[in-house]
Amino acid sequence: MNTLQLNKGRDSSLIRLHPWIFSGGVASVSGSPAPGDTLKVVDADGKALGFAAYSPSSQIRARMWTFDEAATVDAAFIRARVQRAVERRAHLLGPTRTAIRLIYAESDGLPGLIVDRYGDYLSCQFLSTGPVFWRDTIVAALAEFSPCKGIYERSDVAVRKYEGLPQQTGLLWGEEPPESIEITEQDRIFEINIRTGHKTGYYLDQFDNRSLVQQYCRDRLNGPAPVRTVLNCFSYTGGFGVAALKGGAEHVTNVDSSGPALEIAANNLAHNGFGPEQADLVQANVFDYLRELKQEGRFFDLVVLDPPKFAETKSQFLKAARAYKDIAMQAAHLINKGGTLVSFSCSGAIDPALFQKITADALLDAGREGRITHYLNQSQDHPVALPFPESLYLKGLVCVLD
Ligand code: SAH
Repeated sequence: MNTLQLNKGRDSSLIRLHPWIFSGGVASVSGSPAPGDTLKVVDADGKALGFAAYSPSSQIRARMWTFDEAATVDAAFIRARVQRAVERRAHLLGPTRTAIRLIYAESDGLPGLIVDRYGDYLSCQFLSTGPVFWRDTIVAALAEFSPCKGIYERSDVAVRKYEGLPQQTGLLWGEEPPESIEITEQDRIFEINIRTGHKTGYYLDQFDNRSLVQQYCRDRLNGPAPVRTVLNCFSYTGGFGVAALKGGAEHVTNVDSSGPALEIAANNLAHNGFGPEQADLVQANVFDYLRELKQEGRFFDLVVLDPPKFAETKSQFLKAARAYKDIAMQAAHLINKGGTLVSFSCSGAIDPALFQKITADALLDAGREGRITHYLNQSQDHPVALPFPESLYLKGLVCVLD
């Protein structure tokens, strides 16, 4: 069998069940494995450690399917992993939640595979060679265990180039998804376009946090001050704006630099019964717009900052840290006494402790004092595998300002 042998001492992360094998840890690969083929993984002394998918052109040279040296990685194995992931979430789906992440890669023992359900359709990303190799098996298992009308591929993702894989999109199984799919999350409804939406179509990872913002506005979790006015920065689908209005906020200003994103938000606001008198849609660069609002002397009861990933890699983390600090500082200038900042980072390179420090520095520079009332993360259908801390990427802070 094709075998990957590790260098001496390079088995420590695998012993701790971390699934990645970096090229620097590899002593040799024997046999003639093709991309995605299964390799037996052994340590420097030849002791078996499990089985991995081979990615010859990636720095992450192999990703472990299993640490069980007696396992067989075959179609039945992959099928069982898909079934287990789908069953883990089955209880979360229902009439008030019709969209969910079904498979979250390493956290579900399926490295490189993302599958999201939007109503009757599934949207997938095959991010590394392993799931590409097993694609037909995965698609058949999804159709069996998570019955749907169609399965669509959205592997138009930059990281595929590190795997030597081209960008790829298109129907994998069943019917073509319609242009617009309506999904329900609690009492909020959104129109999703699987072909053109960000990622697999939408930001499912913010589900719990949109619900929290809604509850915040409704129940005044931050104390006696009601949340009347909200500034929703980087609004995209308008998700946080819809949640705030559903929670009883009187007015939301949604800001995004993308015209098409604002059209999506306008559509979603209307679908949820909110007219232009309740929601502004502003096309602007948030960095500039926050400064304009300060010049105009505007204040809000709650500001949401949900920017795109500022740090794609570890090397960009200083620049990203400055950007997170800048927007939090500018936002802090605009928040009423007793008001709330809800600030997120989805950059894996910025860890939660650093994000808290950035936020603390931002408030300090803005001359505001505040307390953190909630630590937020990605929603529970994107669980964090304990041996794989990289699976935690979204973090957020709710801060009440004096
Ligand atoms: N909060 C959104 C998701 C945000 S995605 C939701 O719940 O759906 C990030 C958004 O930021 C994208 O829509 C992108 O168009 C926008 N964006 C990126 N850079 C920006 C900038 N400098 N100013 C304003 N919007 C920006």
